[in-house]
Formats: sequence, structure tokens, C-alpha cells
Amino acid sequence: NEDLSTLIKHDIEHRWRNKLEAPIYSDDNKKSKFYVLSMFPYPSGQLHMGHVRVYTISDTMARFYRMNGKNVIHPMGWDAFGLPAENAAIERGIEPSAWTKQNIKHMKEQLQKLGCSFEWDRELTTCDQKYYCWTQFIFLRMYEEGLVYRKEALVNWDPVDQTVLADEQVDANGCSWRSGAKVEKKLLNQWFIRTTRFSKSLLDGLDDPILKNWKDIINLQRHWIGECNGTRFEFELEDNSSKFTKQTLAVFTCNPEHIHYASFIAVAPGSILDRVEFDCDSIIENNSVFKRLPLQAKNPFTGKDLPIYVTDQVEYDEGSDCHLGVPKISEIDRLFATAANIPILSPKENDGLLKSVEDVSVTREHINTVAQQLGIGGYSCSSKLRDWLISRQRYWGTPIPIVYCKHCNGPQPVPYSELPVILPDIDRLSNKGKSLLEATEWLSTKCPKCGGDATRETDTMDTFVDSSWYFLRYLDPYNKEMPFSKEVANRFMPVDLYIGGKEHAVLHLYYARFLNHFLHSVGLVPSQEPFQQLLIQGMVMGQSYRVKGTGRYLPKENVDLSGPKPVEKVTGQAVVTAWEKMSKSKHNGVDPETMLKEYGTDTTRLLILADVAPTSHRHWNSSTFPGILKWQHRLWLTMRSFLNIRSNLENVVSDTVSDTPEFKEHEAKMFDSRNYYLKGVTFNYTTSFQLSVAISKMQGLTNSLRQVPPEVIGHSLQFERALACLIIVLAPMAPHFASELWSGFVSAPNRINTSTKEINWDRGVLEQTWPEIDLNYCLQLVCMVS
Ligand SMILES: [Zn+2]
Repeated sequence: NEDLSTLIKHDIEHRWRNKLEAPIYSDDNKKSKFYVLSMFPYPSGQLHMGHVRVYTISDTMARFYRMNGKNVIHPMGWDAFGLPAENAAIERGIEPSAWTKQNIKHMKEQLQKLGCSFEWDRELTTCDQKYYCWTQFIFLRMYEEGLVYRKEALVNWDPVDQTVLADEQVDANGCSWRSGAKVEKKLLNQWFIRTTRFSKSLLDGLDDPILKNWKDIINLQRHWIGECNGTRFEFELEDNSSKFTKQTLAVFTCNPEHIHYASFIAVAPGSILDRVEFDCDSIIENNSVFKRLPLQAKNPFTGKDLPIYVTDQVEYDEGSDCHLGVPKISEIDRLFATAANIPILSPKENDGLLKSVEDVSVTREHINTVAQQLGIGGYSCSSKLRDWLISRQRYWGTPIPIVYCKHCNGPQPVPYSELPVILPDIDRLSNKGKSLLEATEWLSTKCPKCGGDATRETDTMDTFVDSSWYFLRYLDPYNKEMPFSKEVANRFMPVDLYIGGKEHAVLHLYYARFLNHFLHSVGLVPSQEPFQQLLIQGMVMGQSYRVKGTGRYLPKENVDLSGPKPVEKVTGQAVVTAWEKMSKSKHNGVDPETMLKEYGTDTTRLLILADVAPTSHRHWNSSTFPGILKWQHRLWLTMRSFLNIRSNLENVVSDTVSDTPEFKEHEAKMFDSRNYYLKGVTFNYTTSFQLSVAISKMQGLTNSLRQVPPEVIGHSLQFERALACLIIVLAPMAPHFASELWSGFVSAPNRINTSTKEINWDRGVLEQTWPEIDLNYCLQLVCMVS
């Protein structure tokens, strides 16, 4: 009978925590499945407010769908490979695996404190060999399908992290997305996944009607893939020194139908071939307009050798640095050919030139089919999209299951039966740049083909490979034969609701979609698209303080905010304030543990959900807290007075009260409020995902309840129904608090509502069915004529 203090909140949470364990997915076929997936975290060791936001949303939605009769799948795991673990381990002198394990343990406890109902029996960790065994399996499947290849490439080299970065991991200023270092270009042999083979399918997939709520993400994906208006072909390179034997050049063209008429290839200055060091004397011609390289590319359709020029005098397609010169169809190419003295086709050779649209499309298709059969490309793609460079020269990643043998030509895939290729222990990561090259014992192995001595591939995979298929392993985490069974995928895919941050809306989504398209093409998953609905949440921003001029960040306690303008306490220098993404270096972060301690779990959850829609950035500002705190308190008071009134009804004769017009008016009003607000709440849970608006609807219903006088509460059926409804719809967001209110509600004597259809009186609030709108409720319809 006290006010709702933090102490009471902690008591409540303590009381309910173990009783609110996630209802494990049950194989009840009468219920339809609903797969709620939230992007799994990198185990950095500490939850941050961004995690609190995404996992609160995820848990709220999972609980909501459970209460709506769905068989909910709600897993959690760890995206555990990658550089931060390795770098942290080097700094602290411990093994990355030990560091990762200890972080996972701590973050798991934090997620449990946040009241998240994850199905921990599905938990997976990408650095666990029980997981990466199957990442390797999928790599080999792609290898089998010709989707994996090794090629010398000019790569982005991060000199700080000592590794290669994918193009996508280099920002607009040419700096590493992780270390911030200026990226260098280096020529290295690298592993690629031929993602571009699926570009058309990935582009068309964006029109798949199963995608709901993707909004601007569709455009981000579309922009990333580009317009698939051309084709890429691999041209074999030839030169006198046989330096380029077996090397190919990928040539993009929007006009494959004219490939027979190609007479030269141009590459842009600074592109890979331009950076190859040739003997100065060997350069065939070098002038102010072009440089002719001492090598040729063989046109796979005519067998003709095409000269290669470095020049900026032709037009390159967007994002492409290689151009197929066809003077016959391009005026610019003709001008260049004339300047470079390249023979242009004689009139006789021109005869076959295509004229009608029909001819063009037939020829195009024919050329592409031949190229596909030859394994030299021929798939629709855009000029800017690149294949996925997955090699990383670092230790902490999934080993690439390939060996090299002196006797057998080229790389040899490790047989499926020998998986996993286990990441060896390396003594200690004492300095930068450690790679698998140092695991000498592990390196030597036998060739699967001839049995001779062989060495292992030392590159590991980009962690985006690990996270491109985790949502499938969740469905079948104990499978020892396959990454997941086809039958299980058929039952549970696609993911119904995928929740995560906007920073992953391009790369991660693209790779995950690619992998699912691939798995679909080999018949392992039922749909091309893996994710049906997206809920992309905005960032949590903290207020930052920087010294004007120098830009040095200050912690809030070092800022004097008492004057008209903020200044640094020590120096008196002017301070600029801004809202920025929370980070340690900006001193603007909030520790979730502090929030949980000071306000309790459910209040923290309500605070992160209130005021701002999940999709918007939110400014984390304690001045917005009182609204939620007050509301929770009012709910508490409402329940207390309800219990009080119902417990002391003996002296009042109900008939005399419920016959008055005033009573009937209240009754009608409560009936109305219940239906009106319930409708708003449910709509915002399911359709708009505006959980903040759902909260304000609940607050509206609370206000209505607060206006009912005690003598009415004592005998009102509609008050009782509305109060029950409010507690039930609150439960997904504040499960402990709602459970406590509910136990008070069902314990109240002199109950009026005897319906067991509407309320299951013996069960907790999370086991109630979602309230329904009364059929005889008339919603006011506003009709405007304009
Ligand atoms: Zn061999």
C-alpha cells in the first residue's frame, strides 16, 4: 500500500523474473508460426542503449504475437568473429576466444535483466566450430556452383588493421569504416563470391509482394545494386612473358549483342592493369592521349586478340574502369580508334550488324547463354556492382576450406567430410598483423586430390559471411548433417519480422538476401526473399559537449550550464552542444545498467519505447522521463483504489447505484473508451509499429479510468473490462509490472465480469488472449466534404 518506488519496482521484477521465462516454441500445428528476428549483437562486452532499444522492441513484438495466438520463434545469438575481438585481445594479452566467451556471458546476463524472452536453446555463436563448420559447408556449396573464385585484385588495404577491406567498407573519403585509416591500394590474390550473378534476381526481388514495410530500404538496396542494364564477361589476358596466364579481365558492356565487333579494350588510369609494373620498354606506345599495354585480351566469341589501352578518352560506365571499345556503334570509340590507329572493321565485316529490336534481344540472349555455358559471365548486372571480396588476412574468422598442392593445379576444396577446418590456437596475439601464417603445424596438410603434401589457405572469411545465414541456423541449431534441414526451412521461412539498425540496411541485408537467393536456387529454402517485414530502428543519440574551436569532447560534468551559454568549467571556453550517436569517445553515452538500477527494467523499457517511433532517431534526455514515471504511478494508484473499493463493498447495495442515469453514463463511456483505445493500441502494434503511439493510447485509457468515481468503480462491469484490457495490452512492453497489476486485478473480490471467454482468470497476464473490439461498438466516423 505504498507509492511506487524504485525499490518496489525492483521487488516486482525480482518476483516475476523467473516466472516470465520465454514460452518455448511448441510444435502446436494449430497455431501459425511467427518468426521475430532481431539482428544479433557483436559481443563487445557491454550492452549499449542501441541494444536496449532494438531488443526491447523485439521482445515487445514477440510477446505481442504470442498473446495473439502465434507460435513465435524468437532466437538470439552472437556475431562473434571479427577484428574488434582480435584487437581487444592483443591489447589485453588474452585469447580472442576467451575474451569473446566472457563478453557473451556478461551480455547474456544483461539481456536477461532487460526481461527479454529469447529462446536461449536456439542460441548460436558464429565463432563456435559447430556454427562455422556450416559456414564452410555453404562456402563449398557455392564453390561447387562456380560462385566462388580466387583472383588477383587491386584491393583496399587498411594499414592500421593490416587487412583487406571490401569496397563497401571504405567510406566516401577513402578511409576504413573501422579503423578510420586512409586506405591504400594493394595487388593481392583474393577470394571472391560471385554475388553479381544474382544481381538481377536481387533487384527484381525488391518487387516481391511478400516484402512489407521496407519503405526507403527498398531504394537503398536498389541504389546499391544499380540498374542491371548490362553484362560482364571474363576475357582471358595474353602476353609474351606469360605473366598473365590464366588471368582474366572482367569487361562490362551494355551491348553484348555487339561483342563480335569489339576492336579494343580501354582501362581507366589508376585501374588495376595500369598499376601493374611493366618494363618501361615493353609499353608499346605512350603519349598524352593513351598508353598501349604489352598485353591483349582475347575476345571469347571471336578468338580475336584485342589491344588494351590506358586512357581517359572513352566513356566508362558508372563504377566501371574497363570499357569494351566498339567503334561501329559508338562515336567516341570511333574517335579513339582513329587516334590510336586501331583498324576499324571493313564494310564487308559490317554486314551482320543488328538492326531490329528483335534481332538485338535474340542475339543478346544467345551471347549471354553461351557465356554462361563457358563459365565466363553472361549474367545481367549493373556496371557498378562488384563481386564480394571475402578474404581477410586476419586470424579471428572462419577459415576458408581450401588447400594448395604443388602437384595439382590450382586451389583444392576441402572435402565436406573433413569439415570443419578448425581455427587453430595461436599462442598469443602479441603484436599486430598476426595471421594463420603463424600456425605452422596447422598449415601443412594432405592434398584431398592426390594425397601429397599441401598447405592450407590462411585467409579467413569476412564476418559478413557468418551473419549472412544465421537466421536459418536458428531454426535447426542442433542439426549435425546439414546447416539446416530443408523441411524446417520450408516450415518457418521467411522471417516474418526483422528488427535492426539502419546501419545494416545496405550491406548486411544485401549479403543475407544474396545468400538466401543462392540457397533458393539450389532448392534449400522455400522463398527467394528471406525477410518479410522490416522494422528498421533509429539510433539513440546522446547530448555531446565540445569546446568551440578545438572540437574536444567534454563529459557533461565538466561543463558549466548555469550561464546563458554553456562553457567549460576549468577554462571558461565556450562549449557547443549537439545530439550525436552515443559513444565513449564523445562522453555522451548512458550505461544501460545504470538505467536498470535507477528506474527498473520495465520503466527503462517503457522509456525507450515512448515518445519517439521506433524508426526515428531518439534524443536520450532525462527531461522526458517524468511522463512515463507519472503514468506508471497512476496505473499503480488505479489498481490500488480498485482493490480498495472492491474490498469494501459490503455496505453498498449495488442496485441502487447501477440504476442511476449517472452510472449508466459512466458505463457507456468506459465501454467506449475501452474500444476506442484498444483499437488504437492494436493498430500501432501490428500495422504502423508506432509503439510510442500505442503507449499514448494506453495513457489515454488510463486517464479515462481515473475519471470514474469510486461508487461507480464498485459496480461497473465496463470499468473492470477496460482495466483488464489496459493491463493486458501493457504486458508485452512491461511484462513484470503488468504481471503484478494483473495479480492484483484477479485477486479483487466482488468480481462482476464472469466471462471466462474474455479472461482466463487462472492464468497470468502474458497468457491472456489479446482483447477484441466489441462487435456492438460504434466508432464515430467523421465525414468531411471539401
Ligand atoms: Zn594434389
